[in-house]
Amino acid sequence: MQLYNLTAHELNKLTREKKTCSVEIIKSIYERIEKLDKRINSYITLTKELALKEAEDIDKKINKGEKTSPLAGIPIAIKDVISTKEIKTTCGSKILSNYTPIYDATVIEKLKKENTVILGKTNMDEFAMGSSNENSAYGACRNPWNTETIPGGSSGGSAACIASDLAIMALGSDTGGSIRQPASMCGVVGLKPTYGRVSRYGLVAFASSLDQIGPITKDVEDSAILLNVISGHDEMDSTSVNENVPDYTKYLINNVKKLKAGIPKEYFVEGIDKEVEKAVLNGIETLKKLGAEITEVSLPHTEYAVATYYIVAPAEASSNLARYDGVHYGYRTKTDISSIVDMYEKTRDEGFGDEVKRRIMLGTYALSSGYYEAYYLKALKARTLIKNDFDKAFENCDVLITPVCPTPAFKIGENVSDPLKMYLSDIFTIPVNLAGLPAVSIPCGFSKDGLPIGLQIIGKPFDEGTILQTAYTFEQNTDYHFKKPKM
Ligand code: GLN
Repeated sequence: MQLYNLTAHELNKLTREKKTCSVEIIKSIYERIEKLDKRINSYITLTKELALKEAEDIDKKINKGEKTSPLAGIPIAIKDVISTKEIKTTCGSKILSNYTPIYDATVIEKLKKENTVILGKTNMDEFAMGSSNENSAYGACRNPWNTETIPGGSSGGSAACIASDLAIMALGSDTGGSIRQPASMCGVVGLKPTYGRVSRYGLVAFASSLDQIGPITKDVEDSAILLNVISGHDEMDSTSVNENVPDYTKYLINNVKKLKAGIPKEYFVEGIDKEVEKAVLNGIETLKKLGAEITEVSLPHTEYAVATYYIVAPAEASSNLARYDGVHYGYRTKTDISSIVDMYEKTRDEGFGDEVKRRIMLGTYALSSGYYEAYYLKALKARTLIKNDFDKAFENCDVLITPVCPTPAFKIGENVSDPLKMYLSDIFTIPVNLAGLPAVSIPCGFSKDGLPIGLQIIGKPFDEGTILQTAYTFEQNTDYHFKKPKM
């Protein structure tokens, strides 16, 4: 039996039965990381010594019967945009290459309370800006299903390490699709919670009105378990909502008989890859056979979502990224400087990659006086219309079912010179962030080249339970999630 290819809930059972322990699990994973991650590049930082030491302590506690949490001793990989005390947090950027936070993000504190063990920090597009993980200052991450292709982004490392059994669970962040899109391309489960469900304290900000942290896991059950731990109100994040958090594992029920699922017609249009369309339609058919009622719905403002996002997100990013000035955090230029302004300029020019600079310029332009009304304010209005579309659709259904991305994983390098094409990769995930809704990506098929395809289930605000139940039912009645890439 190999430990690395099991899920958190399977390992928890084995640990309780004293058939294994945290140290063994962690050793088994690092052995695999040391053998395989050169090819995938899913980690930026590994914390082996720390992890083994913690695992030893936890094993002692478990043996004494002190620790009963479902995640005790289970290893997790953390996207490198989430602050970890005394562990380097680079955000995939050169500008934070020497930055070690002095505090933990709230989600990390919560995980530590459950005695979860951090394996390391995962590769990502710089400051979470990207759809392919090619914008990392630490080299591209590769898709384990075909290492010539991208794993998706920006949480590419978190999705790739789960798909290749280089971690048991992972955390990602999702501003416009960065959990769901790589989960879809790597054939794993990725859940973006409702805006406000999970504290963002300690998540390095990209676009604050859109960012959410969420689980990337091997199956739906692990996703529910991890969501239980990270959810909840936090007084350190004023956008986190003070609402009761249900036990999400109670929704792991194999039944969609009373479910009303809406299919937005605007999500099945020209341009979507035929194999993706077929796999998603098959998935919908499966849910129908299992008893779900399927109805067509309309989200008429979908076509404005990408344009709206590329005003709102860069505007917020341009403000959030002003703090990287060579003084407060991280990297400072080493070249001769003539003034403080010169120092700022050189630091930012050397420290940021091209995509980040592009976003800062876009955002600064959209917010500048004279353009603010024409761009930013207009985008906010369009955002409201997009949100209203969802509210209306949800009057008649419990969930919406859509594709996650228009194509399976593309080749490394294929879209780097065409930002617009790259941006369109998130056409089906972006509207969900603009509306603040929860959504999950689950495996629903493979292309003829053997690349995974995902199905997106979108829920009402704070109704993660229903999307988990739908996803769980689908998973229990299909076997896509059992398939593993040949490494
Ligand atoms: N790909 C989108 C972007 O580049 C979304 C990224 C994200 O969700 N962090 O902005």
